[in-house]
Amino acid sequence: MLRLILIIGIIYVVIKIRKVLKKLNESKNQNFPGTENARIDDVMIKDPFCEIYFPKREGHHLKYDGKDLYFCSSTCREKFIAGRSEK
Ligand SMILES: [Zn+2]
Repeated sequence: MLRLILIIGIIYVVIKIRKVLKKLNESKNQNFPGTENARIDDVMIKDPFCEIYFPKREGHHLKYDGKDLYFCSSTCREKFIAGRSEK
């Protein structure tokens, strides 16, 4: 009878440890955000003003007409804004 209680106790402990390990694995996976985003930001995009291709992460962002625009330099961005406001 004592052996049975011991076996049940061991099984209980093993199940508990497994649950803790599962939680640890899940939190480990959450420790690597942004690795995918960094790869996405590395794409080449076209400057809508001077039509030069450059890496998106180095771009100068502008929210224009509900769209996200990226320029190769702040000068291009300013010229683009100036050009649009004239019309
Ligand atoms: Zn440009």
